Formats: sequence, structure tokens, C-alpha cells
Amino acid sequence: MFNSTTGDLTWSVCTAGYEVVEAEEETNVPDAQLGTDFYLSETQQAYLLKRGVVRAKELDTKEYIPSSEADGLARQLAAMFQYENPLVQSPTDDQVLAFSNRFGLLVPGDKMYVHDIVLTCKYLHLFAEAIDRGDKVKAREVFNNTVVPGMTVRLIGSKSGRLTADWKLEVEPVNLIALAWLQIASELTAGKAMKKCDAPDCLEWFPGRSNKRFCNNRCKMAFHRHHRAG
Ligand SMILES: [Zn+2]
Repeated sequence: MFNSTTGDLTWSVCTAGYEVVEAEEETNVPDAQLGTDFYLSETQQAYLLKRGVVRAKELDTKEYIPSSEADGLARQLAAMFQYENPLVQSPTDDQVLAFSNRFGLLVPGDKMYVHDIVLTCKYLHLFAEAIDRGDKVKAREVFNNTVVPGMTVRLIGSKSGRLTADWKLEVEPVNLIALAWLQIASELTAGKAMKKCDAPDCLEWFPGRSNKRFCNNRCKMAFHRHHRAG
């Protein structure tokens, strides 16, 4: 759902959380329309289908605005992918659920295929890896060959809703997959580097500043406690 003034996407999260079930248990699961011609071997396909469906436990939802409340979303998805190995889940079901419980599913509705999440994580991971090692050619190739057309264009006067002389057309995402891609692409286009929180077990990412190491004070304290103890 869009705010018609600012163009911002509002997203829903099931308040009761999510669960992973066998694909056979669910009908009418929407296809995330990754819209690309990924090559997948038969083994990979079979493995991905077995990952099942992630679905909301109940219908009650709460809402948030990902563009202002989920800075590190793309980097978190990218970091969830580690291995290409049919014997090892990557991301694991636990990672998929932790992400969904916090940010909701990647596409509208109350269920989606886990394999659409896995592939989204995989290609964001390839992009992140490329920009982190300075390989912009590879990053461009990943983006241009794998990004979904899950985007729309909005006419924006000003973010506050008051009119200004500064009218713009903005590309806006229609789902979290597109939002993640726009977010991670802006690390290149706007030079907005992201940093991971240094605290043990914290998965947060935030816009990088040279002296900032933690996402909040609690993490800073956890880090120092951990290091004193160790
Ligand atoms: Zn943190």
C-alpha cells in the first residue's frame, strides 16, 4: 500500500508471527515473479521446492514503512545466504522466520514460497559481495540480469506533503524484494556504504560512518561485556 503523498510503501507484518510448512499443505501460493531466467540445475530445483512455504499464523497485522524503518533490510537478506549446497539450508528456516517475524514476507499476501526468499538472498548476496570487493562491473551484471520489475513510478512534491518547487519522479518499490534491490543499489548510486553492527549476535546494518560501530547503546554495552568476559 502506498502513501499517495510521499510515495512511501507501507508494509504489513503478522503480529502472531510466521511458520514454514510443506508446499503440499498450501494452495494458491503467489509466485514472487522474480522475473528472470535464473539457471537452476534439477538438483537445485528439487532442493528449493522442498523448502516449502512460509505463511502467517494469523490474520492480524501491524504496519511499518520500510524505507524509513528498515535501513539494513537488503544487507540482512544478503547476509542470510552463505552456501550453495543442497545438503545445507542457506538461509535456514530459522533465519527465514526471524526475518519474516520482523519485516514481514517479501511479497504482498500472507504466504510465499521459501525458494523465492532463498533466491532473493542469493542474488543480493552476489551483489553485496561484488560491491564489497569493489567489482562494480560484476555488481552491474548481477543487478541488470536479476532484478525484478517490481517497481513503479510516483510523482512526489515533497516528503512532508507540502508543495515545493522540487517536483520529482521517483522509482518506488511495490514489494520488499524491489525495496531491497533499490536499497542495495543506492550503495553504488548514492555512495551510501552500509556497516554491520559489531556486537556479538546482532544482525543489524546501518548507514556507515567511520566512527560508528554499533546499532545502538545496548549493543555497545553487550560488546564490551563480551570482551571483558572473554
Ligand atoms: Zn546491534
